[in-house]
Amino acid sequence: MSKVIQKYLVAGGAGFIGSHLVTRLLENPNTKRVTVVDNFSTGSPENLSSVASDPRLEVIAHDITDNFEVHDDFDVVLHLAAIANPSDYEVSPIPTLLVNSRGNENLIDIARRSSAQYFFFSSSEVYGSYDFIPRQGLSEDALSQLVLNQLRTPYPIGKCYGEELTKYLCRSYENPYVVIRPFNVYGPRMDTKTTYGRVIPNFIAWALQKQPLQVQGNGEQIRTFCHIDDFINGLEITLRHPAPPSVINIGSPVPTSIFSLAQLINRILANDAGIVFTERYPHETLSRIPDIGRISSLGWKPAINLEEGIKSTIQWFRTISKSYEQ
Ligand code: UDP
Repeated sequence: MSKVIQKYLVAGGAGFIGSHLVTRLLENPNTKRVTVVDNFSTGSPENLSSVASDPRLEVIAHDITDNFEVHDDFDVVLHLAAIANPSDYEVSPIPTLLVNSRGNENLIDIARRSSAQYFFFSSSEVYGSYDFIPRQGLSEDALSQLVLNQLRTPYPIGKCYGEELTKYLCRSYENPYVVIRPFNVYGPRMDTKTTYGRVIPNFIAWALQKQPLQVQGNGEQIRTFCHIDDFINGLEITLRHPAPPSVINIGSPVPTSIFSLAQLINRILANDAGIVFTERYPHETLSRIPDIGRISSLGWKPAINLEEGIKSTIQWFRTISKSYEQ
């Protein structure tokens, strides 16, 4: 029996994943209210433009790390607020950490007051750095290989702390909770800054400008890429499940090397400028592949293959800016 949910609070609802989720929730006639709290640091109101006139949507401009009151009650509270670009968390380590500590605590408190189910969005980065390719995908119980004292450590440490805080606070309040660990989700509305954006927007932006794609290291590192629509499907299944597991990986199981990703994007966009190799980031994981046994057992299967997903992401790039084209 799938659960009927009427009232949601979505922190970070104007961001990449958050805005896709909000849009999906508002497609459901059972939804009575979606309250978004966002400080618009990386998200933007345009991400919600397709649903802005829906009377069930309320948008509150606020930083969740500052105290705040909401007078409504909720069935589900989701914490998707994050600083998710490596360049941002290198220059803003404190907000990167606080959104998972103080911000998380504020939201758990709101969930407690409504006895709402709480969703904390963690990251596959909590598994840490592997310098070999594990024979099996990372299961939710895998031991973490986190390396400390790196410039980018505030992000995974913030997520680990956020997971623990969620688990222990929610247990002490007897509040239901779920921790989601996304693996390299991509698609329309991703942050397109190329100062150090994520790999897919970087590669698409360079290829559209007929520039060489900058592959860090030799390109043999492995990731799996999950299209946002597949990801949101997995999330919806989890939301509607009467008793979901407390920690869930959501990602594609299909391994892709960064070199082959670069070749694919250059081929789709007929970019003859090729590939250049740049320095590899220290302690960056060689491989990150999820075990998706848990989410699959709830009935989820990713359906969008990488080429198809990249093509739809390129279309979106073209609609947001002609400046990418020469
Ligand atoms: N990467 C790259 N060129 C870029 C951006 C990223 O070669 O312009 C590589 C990066 O070193 C990593 C992979 O692509 O191995 C995925 O990077 P991303 O930041 O998208 O995600 P994550 O490192 O969190 O998996």
